[in-house]
Amino acid sequence: MSFNPDIPDIISLTIGALLFLMVFVLIILSALEKEYYSVKKSIILLLFPALFLVIPFLDFPYQNHVLLGISGFISLAFIVLVLPFNKRKKIYDYTFSNKVDERDIMFSRIRLKEGSENHKSYYSERPENKETDERLKANPGLLSEGSTYYNLFQFASANASFETVEAYHDHLYKDPAPIKKDLDAKQLTRYLKSWSKKLGAVDCGITELKDYHTYSKLGRKHNYGNDCTLDHKYAIAFTVEMDKDMMAAAPAGSTVMESGLQYMNAGSIAMQLASFLRNIGYESLAHIDGRYEVIAPLVAKDAGLGELGRMGLLMTPNLGPRVRIGVVTTNAPLNIDSPTFAPDVIDFCRICKKCADCCPGKAISHQDREDINGDIRWQINQEECFKYWTVCGTDCGRCMAVCPYSHPNNLLHNFVRKGLKNSYLFRRFALKMDNFLYGRKPAPGDTPNWIKNLE
Ligand code: SF4
Ligand code: SF4
Repeated sequence: MSFNPDIPDIISLTIGALLFLMVFVLIILSALEKEYYSVKKSIILLLFPALFLVIPFLDFPYQNHVLLGISGFISLAFIVLVLPFNKRKKIYDYTFSNKVDERDIMFSRIRLKEGSENHKSYYSERPENKETDERLKANPGLLSEGSTYYNLFQFASANASFETVEAYHDHLYKDPAPIKKDLDAKQLTRYLKSWSKKLGAVDCGITELKDYHTYSKLGRKHNYGNDCTLDHKYAIAFTVEMDKDMMAAAPAGSTVMESGLQYMNAGSIAMQLASFLRNIGYESLAHIDGRYEVIAPLVAKDAGLGELGRMGLLMTPNLGPRVRIGVVTTNAPLNIDSPTFAPDVIDFCRICKKCADCCPGKAISHQDREDINGDIRWQINQEECFKYWTVCGTDCGRCMAVCPYSHPNNLLHNFVRKGLKNSYLFRRFALKMDNFLYGRKPAPGDTPNWIKNLE
């Protein structure tokens, strides 16, 4: 029997071959990314190319009409999905105006010692927080024995990273060199951005320091209760990547190891940049874990590094929320970047809600952005989030691990990111595909083998 293909057969075979190639690449990449659930689901997708590849060899009535109909539909659907089309209606950017009192954040509240002056003054000002905080303090606590994910090696490693950043705390406030070099803002900006990347940053941007970037009052250690008096003109924000494999097991111990490590890396880059600026004669301050005087995601958004998503974290173009942010403020002459406004990210977060569905602490809202004292934004319930941390012992990170924007920075996922940016329809299609391939509520991945095998 000979096969003499006519035009519909050739179209069908071509579409089948292209679809096969796409699914094959998806299977290989998923395997390389250790996304074994996605590998299984992608194998099911092979049915589509198989259909196109098999039909030309069959013989049934109206075969050519069927072939042309299916091929036309698939081609049209593909074109519609990749065409730029954005409904911007009802998505606005909002400027922030409220200042946050650092004493209200959980890291500050959890450290208040019963009977201390700070304890008395805080709860006399905020009696409504006392009961919640006492309940949290009764839990095992972050990085503690008795917590769900306690693991001696993993918690000791995470603690070591946090202690290393803490060692920087005594070296933050220093005077600049006495001779201020007269520098060109463009040249210095270019140098700082390149140097930050050489030091390990993924991206770096600059904004003017705004009032709402800084805490109203500070809430850590010897600064406790002081007004924030930071009067620098500019803020340099940069991001460092959180390793995907370490985050995949979230909320297990590798998450907090990775958090500690990246806070340490961000801290070391920030210390370097601040020291460099002082060496050339300009005031500067590194904002690092435990000693931020600014609210890093707000600074980073205004410095053009990303948009604020449903979980309140910075959503960066190629790594989504899978980053940590470092900030340096300074009076050195610099050129600023345009702030980010990404209606596509806000639109996707509106429909996605995967982080909210997967959050073990039920701390992420399913609603649209809300009016929080006049600022329109998403904000997580920090008490519920932190409560979960004090039980599980890590900083959880489940939301970051499941976010569709957190996939690796590679050709396939960047193609999807481009589609998410381009098209309202593509976003809806991509969300369905993400749920299909990775699961709506994916089970946590394994702790990386190098950790398991060495313990
Ligand atoms: S998981 Fe979905 S809703 Fe949550 S931040 Fe990521 S994209 Fe937005
Ligand atoms: S870190 Fe965990 S508990 Fe906190 S918001 Fe994210 S998923 Fe929820």
